[in-house]
Amino acid sequence: MKISFPTRGTILGRAESNAVSAVIESDASLTQGIWRKRFEEQFREHIGVRHAISVTSGTVALETALRLLDLRPGDQVIVTPQTFQATAQPLLDLPADVVFCDVEPDTLNMDPTALAGMISDRTAAVLLVHYGGLPARMHEIVPLAHRHGAVVIEDSAHALGALHRGRRPGALGDIGCFSFHGSKAITTLGEGGMLTFDRDDWAERLDRVRSNDTDYESLPYAGPQTTPPALLPWMRYADDVYRRTCTRVRRAGTNATMSEAAAAVGVVQLGRLPELTRRRREIAERLDDILAEFPDTTRPHRAAPGDVHAHHLYTFFVNDPAAREDVVRLLDHHEVEVQLRYFPLHLVPEWRARGHGPGECPVAERSWFDHQVNLPCHPGITDAELDYLTDTLRTCLRATTR
Ligand SMILES: *Cc1c(COP(=O)(O)O)cnc(C)c1O
Repeated sequence: MKISFPTRGTILGRAESNAVSAVIESDASLTQGIWRKRFEEQFREHIGVRHAISVTSGTVALETALRLLDLRPGDQVIVTPQTFQATAQPLLDLPADVVFCDVEPDTLNMDPTALAGMISDRTAAVLLVHYGGLPARMHEIVPLAHRHGAVVIEDSAHALGALHRGRRPGALGDIGCFSFHGSKAITTLGEGGMLTFDRDDWAERLDRVRSNDTDYESLPYAGPQTTPPALLPWMRYADDVYRRTCTRVRRAGTNATMSEAAAAVGVVQLGRLPELTRRRREIAERLDDILAEFPDTTRPHRAAPGDVHAHHLYTFFVNDPAAREDVVRLLDHHEVEVQLRYFPLHLVPEWRARGHGPGECPVAERSWFDHQVNLPCHPGITDAELDYLTDTLRTCLRATTR
């Protein structure tokens, strides 16, 4: 039996097929119908914010969120190094100074103490991840950031379904960014993303930026120096013809609108979220039970009482670095796929070329090079596969650790 990381992080079935069929069989617009609005409305309610704006990917959500800040040279952005490259990628061509803030060894979330040591009034934004679906210490991080006038951007790509002190990731900081990539908790047919926040002025601007920032207000036709063409009989909107055909753009924008079919699937998937999160939790608890037998391992950090972990990743630690190598090799030998997520971002060539390097975030570095192991944990795992996974984990740990 082979236990792999998911090609899909979710379950798709008849209800999703029906949703796509309904969009195809209706004569409604494929880009501006009821579904995108409905998905945004339900997502907004689920997260508990004033605005949810859908886009075409999590990466685009992060990029758009960062552009919203109008960063200037000298502005500093503090980022976690323990994340997928998309979190910090938009910063590669923005004028900000990027600083990586180390993580806590047990959660791999941004460490508020480390953050307190580097934040200043130059800090324009703090960009963090709820690593693996466990909420970061937002009750400490957000007030600290706000004291310095910094915006908190939550990369919540792992955290859909999680809860922190009664509120959802995506509503804890200033802007939440979600991904509906096929590997995530829910998907909008493979690609998709969402921004969540409260500010009305951001909503207005984002809604324009994601659709080419078209300007329908000001008319390019300026009077007698050009002659308007004769209106043809089919031009039903005669009064409006210049508005509708000669639009201008206000500033650089893009087209990042989610399609109706994708949003219709999103609505169905969001309805499944509780069931999907429950299955992830079940798998994580079974794996936790095995690790409890081995004192030389450290189980994933549990959510605080009242909080909810979304279990996007199952990350545990082998205390002895040499044993970690053995565990990984043996699991692989037994066809359990192991990943090490994520390689510390400040050590990739693009960030090294900007002066970052080893020693900057020692906790993240030690974790990746010496201790961490990621096991498959997703709703596509069957009961039989889960039995095989837990038995194999026990066998491999017995052979390599105490
Ligand atoms: C998946 C992911 C992204 C990117 O989302 P896409 O929709 O694939 O562009 C960003 N950050 C994190 C932490 C992710 O896991």
